[in-house]
Amino acid sequence: MKKVVGIDIGGTMIKFGLLTLEGKILESGEVDTEASKGIDILFEKLCNIVENFSKDNEILGIAVSGTGQIDGSIGKVIGGNPIIPGWIGTNLVEKLENKFNIPAVLENDVNCAALGEKWLGAGKGQDNFVCVTIGTGIGGGVVLNGDIFRGDTCVAGEFGHIQIEKNGKECLCGKKGCYERYASATALVNMAKERTGETLNGKEIFDREKAGEEVFVNIIKEWVDYFTDGLSTITYIFNPPLIVIGGGVTKQGDYLLDKIKESFESKVGINYKKNLQIKFAELGNNAGMLGAEYLLLKKIKHFN
Ligand SMILES: [Zn+2]
Repeated sequence: MKKVVGIDIGGTMIKFGLLTLEGKILESGEVDTEASKGIDILFEKLCNIVENFSKDNEILGIAVSGTGQIDGSIGKVIGGNPIIPGWIGTNLVEKLENKFNIPAVLENDVNCAALGEKWLGAGKGQDNFVCVTIGTGIGGGVVLNGDIFRGDTCVAGEFGHIQIEKNGKECLCGKKGCYERYASATALVNMAKERTGETLNGKEIFDREKAGEEVFVNIIKEWVDYFTDGLSTITYIFNPPLIVIGGGVTKQGDYLLDKIKESFESKVGINYKKNLQIKFAELGNNAGMLGAEYLLLKKIKHFN
């Protein structure tokens, strides 16, 4: 039985797995990205992963989800944070296909996560929906007619840089007041640090809020309010039937989802929320790898 090698390249770790054509993960592992060592060392690591799996398996293709701005139609990195020297400008698909002589894909990690959720997770059966991920920043993926909507230059859906505060906090992108400066997981951690002097992670902040500490009750309330401000903007643009929210904080489950829904309720008109469902992502850390596989299987026309 043919298999797919799935790889998810993040700034600190590379996750990988051996996948069936149904998206079942048979084996998985991870290695340090060692981003600062640059693209050649990174490519060597990818080759090792593929070669190891190829020893005992017939590999149909290589599906890669990657960090940064990526032209997924050709598999080339076109921008983003230059943490991996040489990464921007690399056509990874060309390199992998030349080396292994099997099909490969590369797509942005949030777009992959959206596609993974569409194939096997919270977006199953939906051809149109929006995915919003809460992490270091806020990422977005737009699924339109069953495909990822890339935009003219493949940078559509960067919701994190929608401005929600005029003259607000400075963002890495050079603007002020960006959504992710107020509603990302990092923003939550920063908010807690500014107001209490304590360095806490997201879970700790929620624990203190659940214990009824007023300062944390207010922090979570404000953070959720910012998050749904952005969500309402996204809703006005797309009028989606479904919004899938991903990221580590979704481990809070219905406790957080109910707060989001309650806060969101009064922020859009009746026709926007008539059928709208808001769900948390279901595939966790595997969404990127599985979404990349979905893209690969579409590329080789497996579903036709
Ligand atoms: Zn920004």
